[in-house]
Amino acid sequence: MRVLLVEDDYMIGNVVQQALRDASYATDWVTDGDAALNALACLSYEIVLLDLGLPKTDGMAVLRSIRANDHRMPVVVLTARDATEDRVAGLDAGADDYLVKPFEMSELLARMRAVTRRQGPAAGPVLSNGVLTLNPATHEAAMDGGPVRLTGREFALLQALMVRPGAILSRAELENRIYGWNEEVESNAVEFLIHAIRKKLGSKAIKNVRGVGWTVSRPA
Ligand code: CA
Repeated sequence: MRVLLVEDDYMIGNVVQQALRDASYATDWVTDGDAALNALACLSYEIVLLDLGLPKTDGMAVLRSIRANDHRMPVVVLTARDATEDRVAGLDAGADDYLVKPFEMSELLARMRAVTRRQGPAAGPVLSNGVLTLNPATHEAAMDGGPVRLTGREFALLQALMVRPGAILSRAELENRIYGWNEEVESNAVEFLIHAIRKKLGSKAIKNVRGVGWTVSRPA
């Protein structure tokens, strides 16, 4: 899952980016509103974490631009303490949730799971296509036998497929969901991860569509 983090405070940005990467989000961090708009024009994101007080284009203008172009992308606003008016204005302008600084990363991660869950086709906290289940809170997957723990990257790859069972994702699309900017990607990284997931969950967990990409089966 790819995240755009928009935060001009370097200390907060560093901590949040590291925590997001540790939680297996492909994370791109920008520090002003213009860079945020550029990133949004170039890449598709599953969620945006948006500070409101930003250099160049401010956060409210970024939010309005997001809502003018894409009605569904979840946006969580990160606001300063006591800025009640900001929070109200942010929610009115289309933010899905907000968090007051300083916040605990565990709470941010839980809210991110909640807002992305509300956007997707799956209603519950666990992703399932009927045979395979994936728990975003624990990074556990199960197929036939008991649950197995996936590594961060294995989880990110399987989650990208499980969000839309039946959709075929190419290598480039999967890499986009797993790696942020400045993260080195080995040429066979996707194949390597799929091999590792199949070893844990069985060879039928992920299907290869020759020359096109990979998919998980649609619910029966
Ligand atoms: Ca700020």
